[in-house]
Amino acid sequence: VTETTAAAAADGTVTVAGVSVDTRHWIGGRRVTSATTFTDVSPIDGAPLAEIARGGAAEAQAAVAAAAEAFPGWAATPRAERARLLHAIADGVEKRIEELSQVETADNGALLRSHRRGVMPRVAHNFRFFADRLPQLDHDDFETRGHTNHVSWDPAGPCVLITPWNAPLMLATWKVAPALAAGNTVILKPAEWSPLTASLLADIAAEAGLPAGVLNIVQGYGAEAGQALVSHPHVRRISFTGSVPTARHIAAAAAANLTPVSLELGGKSPLLVFADADLDLAVELAVEQYDNAGQVCLAATRILVESSVAEEFTERFKTRAAALTQGDSRDAASDLGPTIHPRQLEKIDGFVQRAIAAGARAVVGGGPNTGLGGLYYRPTLLADVAQDSEIVQEEVFGPVLTLQTFDTEDEAIRLANDTRFGLAATIATGSPERAERVTAALVAGTVWVNCFFVRDLRAPFGGSRHSGIGREGGDWSFDFYCDLKNTVTAPNGWTNH
Ligand code: NAD
Repeated sequence: VTETTAAAAADGTVTVAGVSVDTRHWIGGRRVTSATTFTDVSPIDGAPLAEIARGGAAEAQAAVAAAAEAFPGWAATPRAERARLLHAIADGVEKRIEELSQVETADNGALLRSHRRGVMPRVAHNFRFFADRLPQLDHDDFETRGHTNHVSWDPAGPCVLITPWNAPLMLATWKVAPALAAGNTVILKPAEWSPLTASLLADIAAEAGLPAGVLNIVQGYGAEAGQALVSHPHVRRISFTGSVPTARHIAAAAAANLTPVSLELGGKSPLLVFADADLDLAVELAVEQYDNAGQVCLAATRILVESSVAEEFTERFKTRAAALTQGDSRDAASDLGPTIHPRQLEKIDGFVQRAIAAGARAVVGGGPNTGLGGLYYRPTLLADVAQDSEIVQEEVFGPVLTLQTFDTEDEAIRLANDTRFGLAATIATGSPERAERVTAALVAGTVWVNCFFVRDLRAPFGGSRHSGIGREGGDWSFDFYCDLKNTVTAPNGWTNH
């Protein structure tokens, strides 16, 4: 690892969408280069955006050392001061919403208008929420035979946070904010397909006055920088959002050191449409699943419709889907942009073509949007799919939905629960009693009734089965990022008897 000199600092930055972004790591309050780089490309037009420092074992080691060194000071910083600094970071995010939105859109191809209106304000809110939540960690003391029990929420130490590319800064700060609020220091490893906004976050944190070493960013590939970080014995928590295969590697590395790990993984969530539902609403909920070109862990990609309304639903869906505009994510008229990477496009099309070869029928879409070229995949709905087929069982992570029918509530529940995932479910029904019955029977971390993607930071978030281990959000984040300590004090403990 070589530290850059001030003179070389200018060389470490590139301009993306008019914004200066540092391409180096951020370790111990300094920008740090690596001997090699990797190329970051925009999914919108395939343009190379930056050569990013490619971290490995040495950078991981340096970052964990910096986080360990900064930990005692940050852990001892009064909560009110930590909260003040997190609010200052939120202020910095709010001041740079336009820049962050432009850079994120260039980097991961999600819609610019979503970043401006929803995602980046939520990034700021992540910091404010966990800062303001700290006082609620103080529980009332209680007595045992005159002895006082006092529960304290101690920070755990350096935390490694590993995040995916589909909502880079949103998902990163959802971990960074509670980890820092709790008094931990952090090493963030952003996804290699979307490394840029994490670097801007380092700038914002430094401007806000966050002490050196409290937040560290290591760029690089998962198998190199990521693997070195999650294998490090001085790491006290690992929080991961990403795919199931990677989760297995991380859980194995964590097991070697008995490091507590939180896993937010994939899904194959169902949308259940009952005959008593408002069908227009149900169609809207279905079409919403194409948001971010379907690259959303929570997406309800399996549409299960009661047979008696299946034809009507399908016709309305086709009309609605035909009205979607696909195109450049910076264009206000676009409803969905490109997929993230040539490998992702190839993977998506592989799933679809194998499904069609196995007998599936493309009701809409069914291939890349050749008119646009590049990485655009047409919004796709596949019918005539078997429950045990790959397309119904495996996460595609693209704008691909399947359509199946059911005749009874029991059958709907059986189909809904019949995958290895359990992240979310959406129910469209006009009956509150049915909603209650079906919700109780579903295996899912989140159930939406006649709505989708309504999120609140106070709520627990996570999945069952292969969708993950643990919950984040609200106090559940603090449960993970803190070591709880119960102190029992004797009634006469202060007398010298
Ligand atoms: P991924 O698992 O390929 O990569 C995620 C991160 O892990 C990246 O930063 C990558 O560099 C890193 N990584 C890869 N191998 C590693 C290793 N051996 N050790 C340490 N780190 C390693 O996932 P992805 O393709 O970036 O993201 C898509 C997946 O994420 C989908 O499955 C999606 O459902 C899931 N996801 C889940 C949630 C959720 O909250 N449940 C949210 C968004 C995305």
